[in-house]
Amino acid sequence: MDIFEKAFGYTEAREAIKQGYYPYFIPMSESEGTEAVFHGHRLIMCGSNNYLGLTTDPSVRRAAIEAVERFGTSCTGSRFLNGTLELHEQLEHELADFVGKEAALVFSTGMQTNLGVLSAIVGRGDVIVMDRDDHASLVDGARLAWGETKRFKHNDMADLERVLSGIAKDKGKLVVVDGLYSMGGDLAPLPEITALCKKHGARLMVDDAHGMGVMGRGRGTAAHFGVTKDVDLIMSTFSKSFASLGGFIAGDDQVIHYIKHHARALIFSASIPAANAAAALAALKIMRDEPQRAERLSAIAERMRGELRGMGFNIGASVSPIIPIIVGDNMKTLLAWRTLFDAGVFVNPILSPAVPQGMELLRTSYMASHTDGQIDRVLTIFGEVGKKLGVIS
Ligand code: PMP
Repeated sequence: MDIFEKAFGYTEAREAIKQGYYPYFIPMSESEGTEAVFHGHRLIMCGSNNYLGLTTDPSVRRAAIEAVERFGTSCTGSRFLNGTLELHEQLEHELADFVGKEAALVFSTGMQTNLGVLSAIVGRGDVIVMDRDDHASLVDGARLAWGETKRFKHNDMADLERVLSGIAKDKGKLVVVDGLYSMGGDLAPLPEITALCKKHGARLMVDDAHGMGVMGRGRGTAAHFGVTKDVDLIMSTFSKSFASLGGFIAGDDQVIHYIKHHARALIFSASIPAANAAAALAALKIMRDEPQRAERLSAIAERMRGELRGMGFNIGASVSPIIPIIVGDNMKTLLAWRTLFDAGVFVNPILSPAVPQGMELLRTSYMASHTDGQIDRVLTIFGEVGKKLGVIS
C-alpha cells in the first residue's frame, strides 16, 4: 500500500477551488491593517487578529527596522544555546510585569508555547483537564504530554466539577482553558474555574492568545476578572494584539525556570528574531501606555454586537470583538463568505466539522483602528447580504 494514497485521493479542496468557493490561503498583496488587497480587490478587514491595529503602527514598525539594523535577520539558534538576546530577556521581564506574574518565558510561536509547556509540566500519572473548545495547540500539547487527558463540556462548571471529582487525590492536575474563545468570542468563567481548581487541588493554565491586549484594559482575561493571582500560568501569543510572531508563558519564577529547562519546543527550536522581539516590546509599550486603544476596541465591539443583534443575526454568546455570525449550513456559510468578499468585506467562514453541524458560522473580528466610516459600511453590507441570503429577514 502506498502511503501517499490518502493524498492522491484528496479532492475536496480542488473541487471547491474549481467551483469558486475555496476560502483558504487567499494571498494578500497589500495591507494597511483595516483594509487589505486580495486579487486586486480592496476589502475592509473583519477577519484578522490584529485587534489593536498595531502591525502598521509607526513606532512598532520602527522598532522592528532598528532591530534588523542592529542584530540582522535571525538568531540562528535556540534560546538555550546561541539564540538568547538581551531583547528577549527585556521582553520577558516586561511581560511578567504586565500580566502580574514573577517571570515569563518567550517561545517561537504560541503553538510551540503550548506544546512545550504542557509536555514539560504534565508527566506520567498527571492529568490535564481541558475545555472541549480549547484551541488546537492545547489539544496537541496534551497529546504530546505523557499524562492523561480528560475533557469537560464548554464552560460547563458542573461538568468540570464532575471531571475533577473523578480524579484520584494523589494525581497532579492541570486545568487548561482559553481565556477568550477564538470562535465564539465568549470568556471562560475564571472566577468559578479558579474556585473549583482550589477546591480540588488543581493548577490552572489560561491560554489568553485572544484576550491579551483586548480584555481587562489590555491586560487580559485574568485581569478582567481580577483573578490573576489564582491563575497559575498565563499564556499568550505575539501573533495577535502584539503585532509580531512568538508566544510566552508567565507564572511563578521556579515553575518558569523548570519549563525553561524541560520544554523541548523551546530548547530544540530557534528563538524569535530581534525584529519580532522588538516589535512585541513596542506593542507592549503601547498596550501599557495607551489603554484607550483597548477601550476603543471594546466600544466598536459593543456597537457591532448591538447592531448585528438588532438586525436579527444570531451572534451566540459573544462578549468581545470576536463576533460569530451563525449561519447554520456549510454551503450557505460559503455563499455568504463569497458574497461578502465580492461586496468588499473580509471575514472567515468556519464550517463543520470544525464547529458542530448547524453551527457553521462567519467569524468576524474587529480592530481598535477601524474607523466609524468603515464600521458603518460593514454594517450596511452585512445587512444587505444577510437579507439577500435569507440569514435575516
Ligand atoms: N492559542 C490560541 C487560542 C490561538 O488562537 C492561537 C493562534 N490561532 C494559538 C494559541 C497559537 O498561536 P501562534 O499563532 O502564535 O502559534
